[in-house]
Amino acid sequence: MINVTLPDEKSNYVHRIGRVGRAERMGLAISLVSVVPEKVWYHGDWCHSHGRNCFNTNLTSEKGCCIWYNEKNVSNKLKLSIYINYKKHFWHYSV
Ligand SMILES: [Zn+2]
Repeated sequence: MINVTLPDEKSNYVHRIGRVGRAERMGLAISLVSVVPEKVWYHGDWCHSHGRNCFNTNLTSEKGCCIWYNEKNVSNKLKLSIYINYKKHFWHYSV
């Protein structure tokens, strides 16, 4: 599996990578991470079209439908969490 974007919630990331390596078989998940913040769509309740044909590229702080998404920070948070869980559950394997 290849993640082209990282989810900002740890549980969503775990759900995604849980699709590989089932039934005691090895799996591989690769995540592509942008090293610079990216401006991405973020349509909330304020967006009347809920994203459909929305072209409001202003930031949410300016009543728009975009945010700056820092994947590098998200990646660092996920790595730390996964490392801790890995050590807790699979401590007998060497990395
Ligand atoms: Zn919108």
